[in-house]
Parts: sequence; C-alpha cells; structure tokens
Amino acid sequence: MDFLNSILRDWKGSGQIEDRLESPKWRRQFLDAWQFFGVEDPPGPNTMASLIQLRCLLQRMVETLDAREPQSPGDISELNRFLALRQPIPCLVAEEQHYRLQMQPTQRDWYWVMTEIALSFARILLDDYTRVKMCANPDCRWVFYDESRNRTRRWCERRYCGNLMKVRRFRARQAVPSVKT
Ligand SMILES: [Zn+2]
Repeated sequence: MDFLNSILRDWKGSGQIEDRLESPKWRRQFLDAWQFFGVEDPPGPNTMASLIQLRCLLQRMVETLDAREPQSPGDISELNRFLALRQPIPCLVAEEQHYRLQMQPTQRDWYWVMTEIALSFARILLDDYTRVKMCANPDCRWVFYDESRNRTRRWCERRYCGNLMKVRRFRARQAVPSVKT
C-alpha cells in the first residue's frame, strides 16, 4: 500500500499528481522503512519502468478488488512474473541452541523489492482482501486497509475526503432547483 500510494493525487480535484517514486528522498525512506537494506539507488531507466509497470498493475488489481470483481487471468500472470523475478533461496543459520532456515534474496536490488511487493499483494489476496479499498473520492484514490469492524470505511481520512464529498453532494442538491428555474 505504501508503494501504491507513492502516487499522490490532489484530493481537492486540481488534477495535480505528484509521483514520489521519482523522489530520491521518498525512495530512501521507503527502502529504510521496509528494511530493504543494500539496494542500490537510483534505479536505472529499465528498473524504473518495471517499478511503474508494477504500480499500474497493482492499482488495476486494487480497483478490481474495490469493485468486488474477480482478477483477470492476464493480471494474475503479470503478478506471477513479478513474483518470479528474485525468488529467495533458503539459507541455514546456526543459532546457539538450534538451527533455522532463513529465506535470503539472491540479489539485493530493486527487482528483489518488486518481488517482495508482489508477494505482499498476493498474500492480501489469500487473506482478507475485502478490507483493501480505494478512497471513494475519485480525485484521491488513496489505497487503505479498512480495519473498521463492519468494513464500512469509504474515505482515506474522513475529515478530508469525507467532508469534501459531503460538501459536493450538498452543493449538487442545492444546484438542482436553480437549474429548473
Ligand atoms: Zn481520499
């Protein structure tokens, strides 16, 4: 979700879009926050194109989830291609009293990050995907996880988008009589 929300749309409807994926500061914070250590940044042009492709794919898949529709076979195979980019390998680690297997990336690069993001999304589909939603404000489309008991949350932050949409509905109602006269 953090990755999906790297696209910032102006929720007030100016149409302005900020792509934070292009910001070195955002990428650094993202890599640190999710503990993707050792990833070389900035990504090259091909890697950046793949990142944008993954983000478009996941956005489409979240829209499909939001519409309560089944995922298309094409989108599922595309997600599978991202899952296969950097398959982790098991690595035996000796602890004091026991051994454990740790899954290690074959390479610590942006393709590893993409595989992990795709994996995280696939796990959502296995789990409770009805909680993954997009803000109902069409100018915002912020992706969030609805933790409310009845799964009735519709806005990213009620006091912003919820209020804005309330005002718009009110204005639309007010506008109707004036059209008739
Ligand atoms: Zn919103």
